[in-house]
Amino acid sequence: MFHTSHIEISKSAYKNNIKYLRKIIGKETRLSSVIKGNAYGHGIDHIISLAEEAGIDHFSVFSANEALDALKLKSELSGLMIMGLLDYEEIAWAIQNRVEFFVFDPGRLEKAINIAKSINKKARIHIEVETGFNRTGFEYRYMPKLINFLKKNREHYTFEGLCTHFAGAESISNFVRVKNQIKMFHKFNRYFKRHNLFPLRRHTASSAATLTYSQTIMEMVRVGIAQYGFWPSPETHMYRFRKNPSESNFLRRIISWKSRVMVVKEVEPGEFIGYGTSYLANKKIKIAVIPVGYANGFSRAFSNTGRVLIRGRRVPVIGTVTMNTMTVNVSDLPNVEKGDEVVIIGKQRRLSISVSSFCEMSEQLNYQVLARLPANIPRYIVK
Ligand SMILES: *Cc1c(COP(=O)(O)O)cnc(C)c1O
Repeated sequence: MFHTSHIEISKSAYKNNIKYLRKIIGKETRLSSVIKGNAYGHGIDHIISLAEEAGIDHFSVFSANEALDALKLKSELSGLMIMGLLDYEEIAWAIQNRVEFFVFDPGRLEKAINIAKSINKKARIHIEVETGFNRTGFEYRYMPKLINFLKKNREHYTFEGLCTHFAGAESISNFVRVKNQIKMFHKFNRYFKRHNLFPLRRHTASSAATLTYSQTIMEMVRVGIAQYGFWPSPETHMYRFRKNPSESNFLRRIISWKSRVMVVKEVEPGEFIGYGTSYLANKKIKIAVIPVGYANGFSRAFSNTGRVLIRGRRVPVIGTVTMNTMTVNVSDLPNVEKGDEVVIIGKQRRLSISVSSFCEMSEQLNYQVLARLPANIPRYIVK
């Protein structure tokens, strides 16, 4: 009650995905669950509890702000790592709370070491190196200085990780670029080794690399989208399928998003539906209004293109999606009535709507649709 839609998170599907990923990475490799963007829209609180139940003991977030939330929810035994934004004022907080973080520039590194010295606690650092993604990471030419600095300050940090990020391992078109990045990463790794600096864990692979470049699986992987049951791209799915068609526990979507019919009514031929003139009823039709619009994460781009499930049938969105409603054509559903369940993502009887199937229509990626699901939609864990 009091909500226009809700989200269900499937525990069994989540467990299946973790089992599948563990089979790929092997027993020795740590699985860090990437929970940035409110766990890709799934809800950070539910995902942390499911993940820990499934044996996961490390989480990755983008910012200190996200780490603050995760810290309250996770077990004390689980590690937590910031991969992106960490302001200088937040570094002391991170060190105090044993939060690990990426360092990718001299400024942050020096600041972290100085703070660690002053509060007499070690900074838990992951050194990110620039291998060709060209976002963040230490450049190779900076290595002599970096090594020197690290050697001088050994007692003020723990070298938790050496890491990098690939530029699109989900597409074969980036094959050469990714291969070069892997080579470059090993070059960095050897440099550290020569100077007796050994990271506790090396980690380079996100979901796509984990699924398709086995040589990128090292002591840890950082998996986001795949744990939620989505393939980073159709290519990655095809790759796994070709490799082992009989694999039984492929990834399964864990999220479902549901609402209810608010109003049902008939519209005369010649009438337009909703704002503007994008949909004209050319015969007598029956419409249902659903209280979910773009303010609720259902993009306006789904106007006249989206689909939802009602009474086990797929029905089209007609007219423009408004801030709080969408209208669907239910002319083929004789008994539809107010209160009927509407599935926006998920299964109903024999049919199902995946995020990607409604993404292709709007040319959005899974990542985007998920991340835009508002945090205030209530989320429940189901079997
Ligand atoms: C988001 C992110 C990941 C996870 O990516 P997926 O494709 O969702 O698995 C891993 N590493 C870094 C640095 C990231 O920003």
